Amino acid sequence: MALVHLNDMLNHAYRHNYALGAFGVVDLRFLSGIMQAAENCRAPVVLNLIEAHFCHYDFELLMPAVLAAAKRAAVPVAINFDHGSSHEHAGRAIRAGCNGVMVDTSMLPFSDNLWQTRELVNIAHACGVTVEGELGYVPGVTGESAKLHPGELSYTSAAEAAGFVARTGVDSLAVSIGTVHGRMKGMPKLDYNRLAKIHEATSIPLVIHGGTGLSDEQYRKLISHGVAKINYYTALAEVAARSVREQCAADRKADYGNLPDHVSEVVRVETERCMRLWGAGGRAAEVLAQCKPWAEVRHLTLFNISSAIAENEIPVLLGETVAAIEMRPGVRRVHIAKTDQARYSLMVDFSSREAMNNHRKLGKELSLHQKLLMNNMEDTLSLELQTQ
Ligand SMILES: [Zn+2]
Repeated sequence: MALVHLNDMLNHAYRHNYALGAFGVVDLRFLSGIMQAAENCRAPVVLNLIEAHFCHYDFELLMPAVLAAAKRAAVPVAINFDHGSSHEHAGRAIRAGCNGVMVDTSMLPFSDNLWQTRELVNIAHACGVTVEGELGYVPGVTGESAKLHPGELSYTSAAEAAGFVARTGVDSLAVSIGTVHGRMKGMPKLDYNRLAKIHEATSIPLVIHGGTGLSDEQYRKLISHGVAKINYYTALAEVAARSVREQCAADRKADYGNLPDHVSEVVRVETERCMRLWGAGGRAAEVLAQCKPWAEVRHLTLFNISSAIAENEIPVLLGETVAAIEMRPGVRRVHIAKTDQARYSLMVDFSSREAMNNHRKLGKELSLHQKLLMNNMEDTLSLELQTQ
């Protein structure tokens, strides 16, 4: 089980002057190519699930595979939900197993971005989930990226960044210093002075979106100024598409199943290049030793219902209780079952221990009826099970 807290991983990279790659996953071939690269380089890795790509695949179906790949890996892995469009979608991602979230409010006026990000921090931190804020605007320039990120580049202000970080409590900050989503024509000009000032003003791990197409020297300079995560997808999509086109050209009658045969391999090669270049290669053992493991927790309660509650009221009360618990952040599954004449079992799966602790605090907010039910949990037996 090699899922670890993203925040610990980010801070390790930040303290040791290297950058994690957050590689966009769009299917099982990308997933296996990225994971193979991480194993080969002994590198910590962030699997990045970008909401704009959910039109290409079913997030709920892909996530179990992403979780399974992370859990069986020998290297440390974190799973990030990127460019979410709402807090509700971030909540869904946390339930599905993501342990880092970013909701994109960077196009809003400063104060709106600040308040919305702060609210997201409250929701996510209650589950131990890492939050990335974004200040300034990183536009898209080509193809799909241009449609998804319209408008002009707006640079991050160092003065605003200091206030934004202090007042939102974000764990990392995506900055706009000259990169673009997609592939820029020509070599991007990066504003290192601005980056240095932001780094000095915030002292938290910084993130670069639009990492494709920079020179080796540019990456090194970014990392020397506090960049601890680089989001990387466009170049992977390019090598994958090229490999499918080549396969098509080489064999005009190829089966559908054979066309993407080399996608995992070309994704692995490009991912490995980045991991080594950004200094993440060879760091897996240290990260595993120093970062908290991330584990789902199952809580099981056996309880009796008071004889003061009428038999016909019980199903309604139990239904209300399940619905109230399901609404909470980080609750993955709730199940109540009758075990014998008077005894019931309540099983709740949480995405993390923090989510379970938060749920216990929120216990006070149950409705009067639910409280009556819960307060009458005579002979209660509680069990916590780590599910990995
Ligand atoms: Zn981005």
